[in-house]
Amino acid sequence: MESALLAWYVEHGRDLPWRRTRDPYAILVSEVMLQQTQVGRVVPRWQAWLERWPTVEALAAAPLAEVIRAWQGLGYNRRAVSLHRAAARVAAGGWPDDLSELPGVGRYTADAVSAFAWGRNVLPVDTNVRRVLERTAGRFGSAAAQALFDLGATVCLARVPRCGICPLAQGCPSRGSRFEPLRKQTPFAGSFRERRARALRSVAVGPTRLGELDEEAVGALARDGLVRVDGEVVSLPA
Ligand code: SF4
Repeated sequence: MESALLAWYVEHGRDLPWRRTRDPYAILVSEVMLQQTQVGRVVPRWQAWLERWPTVEALAAAPLAEVIRAWQGLGYNRRAVSLHRAAARVAAGGWPDDLSELPGVGRYTADAVSAFAWGRNVLPVDTNVRRVLERTAGRFGSAAAQALFDLGATVCLARVPRCGICPLAQGCPSRGSRFEPLRKQTPFAGSFRERRARALRSVAVGPTRLGELDEEAVGALARDGLVRVDGEVVSLPA
């Protein structure tokens, strides 16, 4: 199964810029951005980020306010604060053996950086990979990781898999099945997430009076370290 998958990947794999580096910092940035943002939106933002902060030391030395500003538009802004904290920790003490000790780095992200930067023999399992593993009941090594990502993202889709063009179809017990979506994504419009994003956009432009902002959203942003409230004035952290 794995050899058929790898042969498919040679022809159909996506050419993504973070697949051409083994720099753990660059890979970490890509993985954190990809946690909740689509690949197409991440590519130009990742490139701009690496131009601006090419090393973990450069990011650690950057003011947090600049980092939060640079994250605008990627969503789930807490990731910017965690990434900045993780960079500070690595710049001060080196890369920990278990990367999940870093802020904002879960098991999947830790395994992805370990596999792609250091060639450790671990298969990072995200939603797409898990789906392919469950459907095929297949066993794959870390060399198949990128191919599994792409197969899950472009062929073995969540609801209606494209079994007709799948390189694993021959031995796949789920071939031809249809699946119900596990959960509907909550709409962004009108959500508390949107209110937080709107408040943060205002503060990113410059210090803003609390009375002009959504106070509940500001409270949540402050708890996540994304803004600072000084009396009546809300600003980005220094
Ligand atoms: S045959 Fe269909 S269900 Fe099985 S891995 Fe391929 S796309 Fe997914």
